Amino acid sequence: MKFSVLIRLPLSKNTIIKEMEKAHIHTFGCQMNEHDSQRMAAILKREGYQLTDDIKDAGLVLINTCSVRENPENKVYSLLGRLSRIKRNKPDMIIGVAGCVAQQEGESILKRVKEVDMVFGTDNVFNLPTMITEVKQGKRALYTGWLPREKNIQNFIPDQELESGTVDGCKAYLAITKGCDNYCSFCIVPSTRGKLVSREKENILEEAGNLISKGANEIQILGQNVNSYRAGDAVFYDLLESLASLPDLKRLRFTSPHPNDWNNRLSDLMAAHTSICNHIHLPFQAGSDRILDLMKRGHTSKEFLEKVAYLKEKIPDISITTDVIVGFPGESEEEFKETLKIIELVRFSQIYAFKYSSRPGTKAAKMKDTVPRKEKENRLQQLLSIQEKIQSEILDQMVGTKQQVLIDSAHPKERGVMNGRSDNNFPISIVERSLEIGDLITVEITGRKKHSLTGTLINACI
Ligand code: SF4
Repeated sequence: MKFSVLIRLPLSKNTIIKEMEKAHIHTFGCQMNEHDSQRMAAILKREGYQLTDDIKDAGLVLINTCSVRENPENKVYSLLGRLSRIKRNKPDMIIGVAGCVAQQEGESILKRVKEVDMVFGTDNVFNLPTMITEVKQGKRALYTGWLPREKNIQNFIPDQELESGTVDGCKAYLAITKGCDNYCSFCIVPSTRGKLVSREKENILEEAGNLISKGANEIQILGQNVNSYRAGDAVFYDLLESLASLPDLKRLRFTSPHPNDWNNRLSDLMAAHTSICNHIHLPFQAGSDRILDLMKRGHTSKEFLEKVAYLKEKIPDISITTDVIVGFPGESEEEFKETLKIIELVRFSQIYAFKYSSRPGTKAAKMKDTVPRKEKENRLQQLLSIQEKIQSEILDQMVGTKQQVLIDSAHPKERGVMNGRSDNNFPISIVERSLEIGDLITVEITGRKKHSLTGTLINACI
């Protein structure tokens, strides 16, 4: 998962606009948060707001927060401090806190930061217009309640939002589940996002159709534990197959699957459909079975490795990325070495590795945090240095190969250079002025940089 992401939303050309109608959204956390921010942006636009990149220029600022680790949570309070100072000279400015920290901390944010006007949790995005009205009437809004399950399914993505789903360039997110029932011992998500709710398959296919008709060449389906999807008789396999069979969808990605809910049938499905990209983000978290058990992951490292081996056999050029935690309570040096062993065996193309930090409200928070901070740092550095070498070798192996690339952006600094991603999710830049966002092309990989590739156009696929 990614952290500390600032979503830059497009500015309108219309500059004759009152300051109080401008809004800025700052997003921390994972793709699900990015998607929620896109929903907030669509609602604000509907309410007459114009989005701005400049926080100081905005009359309404929303911070969409992440509490999955300590660091992003600290950053939220530091940003709130900065905003509070701006608001002292600009008293009409509205400040809202959304997302996981808002869900978890609720009223205490209003008590701690008196400049904050509204706090709303992950089930209450659709209430944004009501909250803004309340704030304009001089109230402070607090919306952190959970919706009843039935209502939750209906309002998870309300009808009016279905039609306004956001296509960013040529890509779109599509949330298929919300929440998680797994309760991994280190994870706060079940408390901040609630119990697992899956949308009806037909409703998802309808949204996918809307996104494709609005220019989405690639859809990434999202869920905290995406492959735990189940709605009526439909399970993740059925939904993935139906989405992959949509005639006009060029690429389909999904994140994040749980190893427990992964099976060889899903690997076969990935191999059978060219539209399902050859990339999987499969978090393994730790190499030791004792630690995996303490984490309540529900699988052993052997089971994880068997599933990965089958995937690699079926899709030889698959790229596998993962999440790892080092220094979980009680992790010995030997157990950490088991994590390194998995990294060397699987050869992940990228790893999101973190030092364990206790999250209040989780089961692991009650365990003694035995690994000293310095030792956690030492383990993290060992792991990253092994991974750096593996990643470098993987990038070297890509040079000289032909890859299908979806162009998704112009290089922010280099004129005439376009950026995209290979089917197996490597970032690639191509010097070719004729290319446009949304082009799906074949590229020969001619070189590599530290974490990305460069290529030349061979031919346009579409
Ligand atoms: S599967 Fe585990 S780590 Fe993932 S969201 Fe659910 S509880 Fe958290």
